[in-house]
Amino acid sequence: MMSDTAPSPNTNADTSSNFDPAELAKFQALASRWWDPESEFRPLHEINPLRLEWIAGLAPLTGKRVLDVGCGGGILAEAMAKRGAEVLGIDLADRPLKVAELHRLESGVPVRYERIAAEDLAQREAQRYDIVTCMEMLEHVPDPESTVRACATLVKPGGHVFFSTINRNPKAFLLAIVGAEYVLRLLPRGTHQYDKLIKPSELLGAARRAGLELIEMMGLLYNPFTRAFSLDPRDVDVNYMVALRR
Ligand code: SAH
Repeated sequence: MMSDTAPSPNTNADTSSNFDPAELAKFQALASRWWDPESEFRPLHEINPLRLEWIAGLAPLTGKRVLDVGCGGGILAEAMAKRGAEVLGIDLADRPLKVAELHRLESGVPVRYERIAAEDLAQREAQRYDIVTCMEMLEHVPDPESTVRACATLVKPGGHVFFSTINRNPKAFLLAIVGAEYVLRLLPRGTHQYDKLIKPSELLGAARRAGLELIEMMGLLYNPFTRAFSLDPRDVDVNYMVALRR
């Protein structure tokens, strides 16, 4: 199902080139620690219950067909499957996917994983999903608008699409890059590049052009003193999520 190396050379003319090998390499290198809640992935573990509740509150998961784009080691994919969704997780880095498959064997939560680009899956499975999630990935992709379009193609009319990413402004630079990577060391240095961060207006513009309508925006805040994350719809200055409907 998955080969051993990172994205194989194009054997198929339709294969999407919307990935950055250097970005994938970062996640390849860290993959074995994906499910260690004290590792580089601690922030993902800590935000997971918050984003899961937010998603499930807007789009109940039981019995739904869900696609998780850029699923990595499967933290969100498994959590959604535990809530009764039928989940496919896709990513282009094969090591995180292998870790996801190993973890699924341990947890027994039924999730399917596949190494395929969203753009390519969109050619095969247009309008197949009730819910598409794409979290913490757009800021690692060369052409995020293409990913947004693919997600819009993959979801059914009336279905939900959820994105999360990081805003681009001086405060986001200070908190998400300087603070998280250099001061608090929550993330490895170089995890995020400032110019690839995405303003809500840019994400919503791409979503609108793809036929997706905004339902709700939600900020994700980190308090360095309590070391806790929380949700706040009034503050999307740094980390944020959007809920959309096709
Ligand atoms: N969505 C998961 C993982 C976020 S980490 C979560 O929030 O828990 C970012 C993930 O995006 C990594 O697994 C990385 O391999 C993946 N990724 C980066 N560029 C990608 C691309 N172009 N296509 C698919 N996945 C990509």
